[in-house]
Amino acid sequence: MKLGSPKESAPGERRVALTPASAKDLAKLGHEAMVEKGAGALAGFSDEDYRAAGVEVVDSADDLFRQADIIAKVQPPSDEEIARLSDDKTLVSFFYPAANPERLEAVKATGASIIAMDMVPRISRAQKMDALSSMANIAGYRAVIEAANNFGRFFTGQVTAAGKVPPARVLVIGAGVAGLAAIGASTSLGAITYAFDVRPEVAEQIESMGAEFVYLDFSEEQTDGAETGGYAKPSSPEFQKAQLEKFRELAPDIDIVISTALIPGRDAPVLWTADMVEAMKPGSVIVDLAAERGGNCELTVKDEKIVTDNGVTIIGYTDFPSRMATQSSSLYANNIRHLMTDLTPDKDGVVNHNMDDDVIRGATVAHKGEITFPPPPPKVK
Ligand code: NAD
Repeated sequence: MKLGSPKESAPGERRVALTPASAKDLAKLGHEAMVEKGAGALAGFSDEDYRAAGVEVVDSADDLFRQADIIAKVQPPSDEEIARLSDDKTLVSFFYPAANPERLEAVKATGASIIAMDMVPRISRAQKMDALSSMANIAGYRAVIEAANNFGRFFTGQVTAAGKVPPARVLVIGAGVAGLAAIGASTSLGAITYAFDVRPEVAEQIESMGAEFVYLDFSEEQTDGAETGGYAKPSSPEFQKAQLEKFRELAPDIDIVISTALIPGRDAPVLWTADMVEAMKPGSVIVDLAAERGGNCELTVKDEKIVTDNGVTIIGYTDFPSRMATQSSSLYANNIRHLMTDLTPDKDGVVNHNMDDDVIRGATVAHKGEITFPPPPPKVK
């Protein structure tokens, strides 16, 4: 079949869903690949690079949607893109079906099949297709780089002829995929790194990466906000109070906060309040990776960088993976290529959209004119 990637139409999006390398892998599955002219330009892949990898370069998004059987994108489809779909097409992209029921209705009307990369079940077998994780990993790393770029000092401590340089103190709040990546980047730059999560099972991971787990004077187990299945649930008021008290105590000594705390299906919990920002030293930096869902810091402004009256920089960007477009496109394109491997069991260029497969079923949100979201719970862990 023909898999094609258009130029992303969302403002500011630099990523692309097909790379020259992923196209070569798709060819091994028997698929032909195409891109819209200039689709990879902002991610560092020229039309020439694609042609050299055997990819057809077409002139317009219209041509691409007409000719491709499978359209692979990064961002959810725009109204214009939905209007180009039909019942013989499959679209693969981030889709966020729970937050966008009207978009789901619109694609249903086209009869196209939609595979939402954000709905790939987070089970071991599907890790290679887990685009939420591959993008969160990049976001966590980039958050630290962004913090370092806005921080007027070294991360690592040094003793130099010109004077002693103290190490930066970094606090990472939330140690999921993005948080662990941030801890890795922060410790490798030499900062003294602290981390906190409501899931106590991550303490060992945090410590094995050279960071210090922040314990609360709350309970021995510190499990209040932990949910089964590796996700968090809202904490009790007592636990929240203990958490905020601990953060308030740390605030004057912390130079950089990287916050990544999220609870599935809810607004981000506010964990870094205005008085904590007030207590931080001038020159300190907060990077709020939860900005998309309202922010973990009370003062975060989504998609903006602000500097408070007391000189604290607060970064609320929501496009960190897109800021590392070459790397994120490569990993995202690999996620899609792995999905295509599962969809092409005989490696003969024939797609078997097998709705009995937990992973494919879980990610498919529209199929044959029906909405297939939400999926039944997966059978395998
Ligand atoms: P997420 O983005 O939903 O949340 C980020 C982190 O914030 C989580 O670790 C959560 O516990 C934490 N958090 C929530 N409320 C908090 C609070 N009040 N204070 C401090 N921290 C708070 O999570 P994620 O990064 O998508 O991953 C969550 C889990 O899923 C992890 O255990 C991860 O290892 C697991 N996972 C498993 C797979 C797999 O294939 N098996 C794939 C991806 C993720």
